[in-house]
Amino acid sequence: MGKIAQLPEDVAIKIAAGEVVERPASVVKELVENALDAAASQIDVTIKDGGKTLIEIKDNGSGMDRDDAVKAFLRHGTSKIHSVEDLAHVISLGFRGEALAAIGASADVELVTTETTAQEGTKVRVLFGRVEPAKPHAPLPGTTIKVQNLFEALPVRQKFLKSDATEWKATLDILIKQMLAHPEVGFTIHHNTRQVYTFSPNQDFADRVAALWQVDPKKLIPVQSEVPHLAIAGVVVKPEMAHEGKGRQFLAVNGHPVTDKMVQRSARDAYGTLLPPALLPSYALNLTIHPGMVDVNIHPRKDEVRFVNPQEIYRFVFQSVSQALSSVDLAFQEVPVALTSSPFVTQSPETRDTQPLNRPAPFRSPTVISPQRHATFDYAPSQTLAVSPLAEDTPVAPILTLDCCYLVTTHDNNLVIIDQHAAHERILYHQLWQIHEGKNRLTQPLLVPIAVTLSEPERALLEAHGDHFQALGFGITLSEDTIQLTEVPQVLHLKDPETFLTQVLSTLKDDQVMPSTQEWHHKIFATMACKAAIKAGDEVSEAEKQRLVRELLALPDRFTCPHGRPSHIVLGPNQMEKLFKRTGF
Ligand code: ADP
Ligand code: MG
Repeated sequence: MGKIAQLPEDVAIKIAAGEVVERPASVVKELVENALDAAASQIDVTIKDGGKTLIEIKDNGSGMDRDDAVKAFLRHGTSKIHSVEDLAHVISLGFRGEALAAIGASADVELVTTETTAQEGTKVRVLFGRVEPAKPHAPLPGTTIKVQNLFEALPVRQKFLKSDATEWKATLDILIKQMLAHPEVGFTIHHNTRQVYTFSPNQDFADRVAALWQVDPKKLIPVQSEVPHLAIAGVVVKPEMAHEGKGRQFLAVNGHPVTDKMVQRSARDAYGTLLPPALLPSYALNLTIHPGMVDVNIHPRKDEVRFVNPQEIYRFVFQSVSQALSSVDLAFQEVPVALTSSPFVTQSPETRDTQPLNRPAPFRSPTVISPQRHATFDYAPSQTLAVSPLAEDTPVAPILTLDCCYLVTTHDNNLVIIDQHAAHERILYHQLWQIHEGKNRLTQPLLVPIAVTLSEPERALLEAHGDHFQALGFGITLSEDTIQLTEVPQVLHLKDPETFLTQVLSTLKDDQVMPSTQEWHHKIFATMACKAAIKAGDEVSEAEKQRLVRELLALPDRFTCPHGRPSHIVLGPNQMEKLFKRTGF
């Protein structure tokens, strides 16, 4: 006799339930997805004891009639697909018709639902897989589903649940993703007696993100753009916030929270030198794409997608984020943390008196930042400046030097603190790009050619890529046993060209970057800028200081050095008021 028997449905459903419903977080995920699929604009979530005793999800979506309310609990009961062909274009979040059956098999479930125009509602109760007859109920908008005592009748599964706090944390992670992926939906979240979040539909997305990430909304930059078949909306962070190491990368594609390395790369690339190479910017982005151009079902948990045309997505995200970054002032304004977090939270009458001093205008540099950053370049600086903030004949305010490293001055009613090395690096880096683009190639011939001694790898590098050096204004003669330097680029003001050249070559020689790419140019220019720039500790003449400040503040990409460190910090009257405890309480 054969050994194979088909499992009875009630056994099969329990096994399937284990796959769909692992823990409270997975129940919450399925139920919120159902509410979203039912086009709810408001979802209220109540969780007790990490979801172990109660998960209640109330929505104002389409609801169900009595017949459907019962069928919803059948395995493979779904209104979302009817045939295999439908699979190709499902855009709803769930469609296997497993979730409610699985949840019904695992808990004490009560569903109250009213179809939009119906006079009467329905109540269905399912007790650990046993569906009780549906009953009439007073009509309430949408659907409310209560899941109590999850796994109570399934001790084996219950044993796998972690502490209430851990289950709550996992649930919260799911909810946060859903709240970010659906800015158009209002949410309230309660845990035990605590009201955790309240978000209204269509509130400012930056405010929602700021509340979820616990950051200042002013540090978030809105991203919004649209082309045929493709739209993006969300926020990215100011570079100064990325330095706090709060790496949060959120992406949703057509309402599905997903992770995507390419989008991550694209958003990172848009920052170019605004960030140190290893840092990822935080972002919360919602991408809407024609369903035919993406496959959301490649991953069983649906947390990865496959784009039909990844290049196009890369470019679109890159351009959208670049545009967002160039539309705002990115000057670092961080007030030292030790000074802002004060124990003096009460307001003295004196500070209250000075309230009228409240100045509305935060720092805005008069520089008009070119709205078009290079679309396909990762590192090239923007070039055109419509208005120079410091006209040639405008005197720069007096400049003080602190610790042989920081230049302190005022500009535009702001205190500006400049790191002389980082600033000079940024200026030189910019000038090298300019030469690369065919502008201002001025060379300085050396009175006597300098013989340069190089190691073999350095010499090999110079032989292979001497044209890059020559293009910048280096005159180099290579012969069998000597290397002679005959001229150098004027912008670099080199005092010791030999040391400079060896330092640059020795830094570059270990690089794995593909020659002649943008990244390669970035490396060369950043390395040269670093080696040629004034160092911390160097004496800087009055005239040089003036030029440094003037040139830096005129650059579109002035905010950081080419390695992503801040080049200057701006403290406006608003920050001053905070520092001196005049406002901000
Ligand atoms: P799926 O979502 O994969 O279709 P579920 O088991 O999650 O399967 O739900 C079964 C069906 O019940 C859905 O297809 C939908 O028609 C209905 N349904 C579930 N939840 C809701 C809800 N909150 N509002 C309206 N209809 C719902
Ligand atoms: Mg579902």
